Parts: sequence; C-alpha cells; structure tokens
Amino acid sequence: MSDCWDVGIIGGGPAGYTAALYAARAGFSVLLLEKLAPGGQMATTDVIDNYPGFPEGVSGFDLADHMKRSAERFGAVTRLAEVQSVGLAGPVKEIVTRKETLRARAVVLATGASPRELGLPGERELRGRGVSYCATCDGMFFRGQSVCVVGGGNTAVADALYLSRLCARVTLIHRRDRLRASAVYAHALESAPNLEILWNTTVTSLEHDDVLTGVGLTRTDTGATRTLPCAALFVAVGHVPESGLFRGQVDLDPAGYVLADETTRTRLPGVFAVGDLRQKPLRQVVTAAADGAVAAHFIEEYLGA
Ligand SMILES: Cc1cc2nc3c(=O)[nH]c(=O)nc-3n(C[C@H](O)[C@H](O)[C@H](O)COP(=O)(O)OP(=O)(O)OC[C@H]3O[C@@H](n4cnc5c(N)ncnc54)[C@H](O)[C@@H]3O)c2cc1C
Repeated sequence: MSDCWDVGIIGGGPAGYTAALYAARAGFSVLLLEKLAPGGQMATTDVIDNYPGFPEGVSGFDLADHMKRSAERFGAVTRLAEVQSVGLAGPVKEIVTRKETLRARAVVLATGASPRELGLPGERELRGRGVSYCATCDGMFFRGQSVCVVGGGNTAVADALYLSRLCARVTLIHRRDRLRASAVYAHALESAPNLEILWNTTVTSLEHDDVLTGVGLTRTDTGATRTLPCAALFVAVGHVPESGLFRGQVDLDPAGYVLADETTRTRLPGVFAVGDLRQKPLRQVVTAAADGAVAAHFIEEYLGA
C-alpha cells in the first residue's frame, strides 16, 4: 500500500473503472474509492444493449464486474468507502473517508449523476418494469408499443423524437404550455405523425400490475384527471450530479456539473472529471468509459511519465 498513490479515483462506475484500467496499465499506482458497490448506475441496469462488443447484450452487473476485474488485473486497488471531503489544490491531493485520509498526486472525479425522479408511489419498484430514465437505453424494449415521455427540456424532446421512430405512439407530457427545449426541435416535432404533446399536464400516478400499464394525468389549469394507458413512461426531468463534494474547488455549471473539456481536465492541475459528473452532451456507459481513457492519457502527461 502506498503512502501517496499516483492516482486516486472517486467513484467506481464505468468512468472510474476505465480510468483505473488505463492508469494502472500505464504503470501508476491506482486507488479507487466506491461508496456502494462497483459499477455505479450500470450495475442497477438489467441489460445493456448498446455497449459495443456484446452482440446479445450484457447484464449491467456483469459488465460492472468485468470492468472492475480488468482494472484489478493491472494492479488497481478498490476500497469500499465513501469519500467525505477532498482537498484538491496543491500537488498532493487529499481524499478523506470516515476512517482515513488518503493522498494522491492526481485525482479523477467520477461520482456520476442520478436521474431525477418524479417522486410518485411505486416509481422505484417499477424501474425496469415500464418506468425508465433513459430512452436511448430502454426504448428498444418498447418497439411498436405506446409510450409516454414526461419533461419539457431538450432531453425530453430528443427522447420523444427518438422513441417516435421505434414506438407506435408517443405522448409527451409537459406541465407548462410551452417547451423549454430549443427551437431546433420544432419542425421535427410537428412532422412526427405518431407524437402528441399534452400541455399543462402532470403525471400524478402510475397504473400497474406487475409492470406499468398506464399513467394517471392531472391538468394543471383545470385540475381534470384521467388515465392514459401506456407500456412505458420515460422520465426526462433532469439529472442530479454528485458534485457537492467538489463545490468551491472545481468549476461547476449552473446545474452542478463539473466543467471539464474533452481532455477531462478541470481548472485545477492534476484534477480530472469524467463520466456523467462532467458537463457533456450524452451520458452513457460508452461515453463514461471513453472519458476514463482520456483522463488516464492526460494523467500520464501531467505526472510526466
Ligand atoms: C436505469 C438506468 C439505465 C441505464 N441504461 C443504460 C444503457 O442501457 N446503456 C448505457 O450506455 N447507459 C445506460 N445508463 C447510463 C449509464 O449507466 C451512465 O451513463 C453511466 O453509468 C455513467 O457512469 P459514471 O461512471 O460516470 O457514473 P456512475 O455510473 O453514476 O458511477 C458513479 C459511482 O460513484 C460512486 N460515488 C458517488 N459519490 C461517491 C463518494 N462520495 N464516495 C465514493 N463513491 C462515490 C457511486 O456510488 C457510483 O458507483 C443507464 C442509467 C440508468 C440510471
């Protein structure tokens, strides 16, 4: 065990483990800290169909295990501990858990982000059984069926358009009378014949047996309620980045995502931000993994290997 690790990684999702794999393979001592279980959001996903190299798809749990073992093969060490604070300025960074203070010459911030929930009864239980937070991930499972999307920003609209190419019918549910999404989507929305927008409407309940069967809707203007049958509800009301630990040390955007460019470098030398935590256009396993590889490349440059 090192007194000062070359690379400390906070978060054991695909971004963190890919950074660990590349950095360990480049010969650095690597410690990865994970507060729950290795794999991050990926480990809670039944089947991942869009990570290249798995023609039959792969269980999120298995992919997480493969990534962990790939990094450990080259000597990366996983420690299950929640990071409670960090000191990122200066050439030696401090990472504090309940039991110890660890030191590293470079740090990778890989704590991810979680999709914002609606907070409805049954929502957690129906996750993976009709309630989804990722159209790109789960849309294929509902090909030819009727689905709903809730939200009014760019993600909700992009999700609705994506689903309109796969599903028989898509209903976009928005609580206001206009979308927050950028105007570039207006024409595409008008020309999707199987896509309807319900304005001034919120989802107030989830109808289900074993799986989702429909959504309960309430008009925000009249209070009128009704049920809309559907096979899936795609929730696109934003994400919550896990960036609280780093606030005041690295730059965050207004939504709390860490500002780091395509090099994954933050404004602090030796501090890199990867995966869903970083401001970026597409949050997926493959883009998180790509960030991890890029970070290790620039860590090599930073540590002068
Ligand atoms: C339900 C669902 C289905 C999805 N399906 C797909 C799919 O089919 N295909 C696809 O490509 N993508 C899918 N995604 C998206 C994908 O899982 C994410 O884009 C990806 O996991 C992001 O990786 P990450 O490493 O950046 O962060 P995460 O996976 O969020 O991992 C971050 C890790 O950091 C840990 N952590 C946080 N704070 C601390 C702390 N203080 N101390 C220590 N550890 C900490 C967390 O416990 C977590 O393990 C899905 C996401 C969800 C929620």
